[in-house]
Amino acid sequence: MQEIKIFCPATIANISCGFDVMGLALASIGDEMLIRKTDNRGLTISKITGQNLPLETSRNVAGVAGLALLKDLDYSGGFEIEIRKRIKAGSGIGSSAASAAGAVWGINELLGQPYSSLDLVKFAMEGEALASGVAHADNVAPALFGGFTLVRSYDPLDVVGLNTPSELFATVIHPQIEVKTSDSRKILKTSITLKDGVKQWGNVGGLVAGLFLEDYDLIGRSLVDHIVEPIRSMLIPAYSEVKEATLSAGALGTGISGSGPSIFSLSQGEKNAKKVAKAMQDIYNKIGVDYDIYVSKVNKKGIYAL
Ligand code: ADP
Repeated sequence: MQEIKIFCPATIANISCGFDVMGLALASIGDEMLIRKTDNRGLTISKITGQNLPLETSRNVAGVAGLALLKDLDYSGGFEIEIRKRIKAGSGIGSSAASAAGAVWGINELLGQPYSSLDLVKFAMEGEALASGVAHADNVAPALFGGFTLVRSYDPLDVVGLNTPSELFATVIHPQIEVKTSDSRKILKTSITLKDGVKQWGNVGGLVAGLFLEDYDLIGRSLVDHIVEPIRSMLIPAYSEVKEATLSAGALGTGISGSGPSIFSLSQGEKNAKKVAKAMQDIYNKIGVDYDIYVSKVNKKGIYAL
């Protein structure tokens, strides 16, 4: 195989109680990438459409992640990448992760799959470190594994693929405001109370069990965040109104996607997810905030060839 065209999904990280550890991949929002083998050693990004992002390999997460893999393999040839961006950078739905994970997944396919998904997560994390300064895995893991994932440990890296109930749909609204990841990190506290810890890990366990049991009520009861949401929600316009309206409209739970400003809800069935979308839209239309909105099934496959 000389060339591969792939779909790289958007992802929701920091799923409520699962701050920094739980993420999921989306089915109908994502970028496309075309990756082809070249005779020249190294990696070039020849074209990016849809967004104004650097073509320079060292300044693009796809380049950094891809080079991390090639360095490990000591590969004598090279690759050329074209990216069609549909996920806006800084939206909170894993724009950089889609490119970092896509680059390493595509190269691995063209080389006959020398690496496991976990190896690919490690390379993709090097790209993520360029975007946010931190080599986090909670977006690249669901992009590469598909479905819901848990980063059980960072040292050593241990990623667990969770079950994805087939009726789960996500609704995501992206208010067109800028929240810098560095700002949303800065406002977080560095310690938590034991009381909040107990509530939080109760919910993490409940969410994992709910996903495996396909118990939608348990999933809903567990989609609660006592630690990060109360602080970060201050950066998002009308957050509490949106949350209240989505829960009244039938959402199982609502939280901040990534480090924001996108807000996500999970619902059982597409009909409910669309009702939730309407509830979100009504609020932003009323207060005059522009937005993008998506309803998507949870993507069980992760990245795939088109
Ligand atoms: P999101 O909030 O959607 O997760 P990130 O904050 O992870 O997005 O990443 C956005 C940052 O990464 C921006 O500063 C952007 O310039 C940089 N970046 C570098 N390469 C890419 C790429 N291929 N796709 C998206 N963002 C990229």
